[in-house]
Amino acid sequence: MGRFPFDLTASELHARSEAVLAEAADGLRSLEASGARPTVESLLEPLDRVLARVQNLSVHGSLLFGVHPDAEVRAAGREVSEAAERFLNQYRLNGALYAALGRLDLSGADAPTAFAVRKMRREMRRAGAETDAETRTRLLTVSNSIDRTSNQFMENLAHFERSIEVDGPEALRGLPTDFLATHPPDARGRVRVTTRYPDFRPVMAYCDDANVRRALLHEFMNRAHPENVPVLRELLALRAEFARTLGYPHYAAFALEDKMIGTPGAAHELLDRLRGLLWDPARRDLERYLERKRRDQPGATALDPWDGELFGSGYYDGKIRNEEFGVDARVLRDYLPYGRVRDGLLGLCRDLFGLSFTRAASAAVWHPSVEAYDVRQGDRPLGRCYFDLVPREGKFTHAACFAVREGVAGIQYPQASLVCNFLDPNVAPEEARMEWRDVVTFFHEFGHLLHALLSGQPRWRYNGQAQVEWDFIEAPSQLFEEWARDPATLATFARNPDTGAGIPTDLLERLRGAEALGRPSRLLRQVALSAISLDYYEHDPPGVDPAVSYRSEWDRYYPWRFPDDYHPESSFGHLTGYSAFYYTYVWSVVIARDLLSPFLEKGTLTDPGVAARYASEILAPGSSRPAAELIRAYLGRDFTFDAFDRWSRETPSTTPGRGSV
Ligand SMILES: [Zn+2]
Repeated sequence: MGRFPFDLTASELHARSEAVLAEAADGLRSLEASGARPTVESLLEPLDRVLARVQNLSVHGSLLFGVHPDAEVRAAGREVSEAAERFLNQYRLNGALYAALGRLDLSGADAPTAFAVRKMRREMRRAGAETDAETRTRLLTVSNSIDRTSNQFMENLAHFERSIEVDGPEALRGLPTDFLATHPPDARGRVRVTTRYPDFRPVMAYCDDANVRRALLHEFMNRAHPENVPVLRELLALRAEFARTLGYPHYAAFALEDKMIGTPGAAHELLDRLRGLLWDPARRDLERYLERKRRDQPGATALDPWDGELFGSGYYDGKIRNEEFGVDARVLRDYLPYGRVRDGLLGLCRDLFGLSFTRAASAAVWHPSVEAYDVRQGDRPLGRCYFDLVPREGKFTHAACFAVREGVAGIQYPQASLVCNFLDPNVAPEEARMEWRDVVTFFHEFGHLLHALLSGQPRWRYNGQAQVEWDFIEAPSQLFEEWARDPATLATFARNPDTGAGIPTDLLERLRGAEALGRPSRLLRQVALSAISLDYYEHDPPGVDPAVSYRSEWDRYYPWRFPDDYHPESSFGHLTGYSAFYYTYVWSVVIARDLLSPFLEKGTLTDPGVAARYASEILAPGSSRPAAELIRAYLGRDFTFDAFDRWSRETPSTTPGRGSV
């Protein structure tokens, strides 16, 4: 399939891209005249291979765009990925191939093959393959512009990072000692604190000086603003035009059609149901934070956004966790150096799924801080994974699992990379302390990676993980978070490297007891963001002011308003990839809670029988069948809301051993 190394120069990348795309264009041309009754061997197999080669180019370009330390290579990566996507956009409008796939002889084909072909045809129809030549020309231009505009939004987000300067360590009172040690004052006695997560999260959670929290949150909430305002408007307008050209009332109707949920109406029903369930408990969370604030500031009438967990770990909810539940997140941090967390996670995968991870010391990587591992299940190679966890200039700013190579049986093993920003760049990675919340995110992203590795040998690309319904894709990842909340799992690796002491059992029990604190408001925040993403894509763009629309949906779904000078719409990166279906997080968490049921019935998250069944019924099939069928095979029934409803209503417990698993 050809190698796509990480050390090519920008011009080498372009040359490589042109060669791959020229060869792929020849490949498609030779398949266009596929005769009256093309077969799996004469059409599907060569077509799938051509598309896989172009997809390799696209994901390689996207990865370089997101992670490469050299700005020129990042730019080339973006261009290469856009060129590959332009090729794929054009392929989807290829009427001759669309018709040939329709004539394909599937008489001897197995069910996954027939399912893959159905999806290929649907993808082409939804791209406009059935429209007239003039319409196709316009749709191609619009699709290409959508890809370019989405990338511009993400590039701005990575580029326009912000920071504040504060007076010496005094302004950072309350922060953990390891943080203060890595943020010494400069010659003028000032300390620079950035909006990158390893700074932002601890400052918002621990800094006693409300002015510092206020100033940093202001910068964080205005990342890429105003640069992304016109970009977002253009993206919404392009997608609206695309959907209307195909006869849909708006882009949301188009985007949800091939998802589990099916329609915007069903998505609204979900969001309104969750709002009804969560509104009062979320308000009680926020009132509780305000009460605690009044002990510091008698007479305080309102919770400020930098006071509580509204956009990340909060200050007063942290105080409550500490004072009422005996959980000091700074103490937890001492037991969570990255090296131990990683080894614990890999050990867990050995116990649950029989996986082994071998450090691939000679594997090419794009930055010296990146780790590569070869993964096997028993004797069987599964693929390779990478961890890129330290922030740096120009890198993707959030947390995600990037495909490096999608697996295809007999052709290539899957490769995927976690691209996150957990580790303080000022300290050796092995020793860098992690916030417990970041450990949960690490497990979340690793859940995506496991899905990619375990489903990594489909016969056809369209049966792979990348083709799973996008509103199911967050279920395995959110389920895997549970192991980072499980005291028995944490106890296997959480250890203080300075004292050698393992994490105290009673601290783990208290952590579990406190876990439900703030859960309703965290979930409701996701509901509000889901409503915003739907609303953006349901209205005619000239009538949508993204800032106004964001606020009005937020106010409808969240019982607390944020200041007028915040512009979170400019850094809402999911509006590019997930477009109208940010609701995937709340929908998938409903599913994930039910997927957890068989483990809870056993009373342990490490039951090998349930783990094996989960791996074989949910993860390994990738997209060889509809997600609803996989769930039915694993649970023995359709999923329900029952487990989620119970979980979302749990109250935090100060009695060790009484909280949720
Ligand atoms: Zn995810």
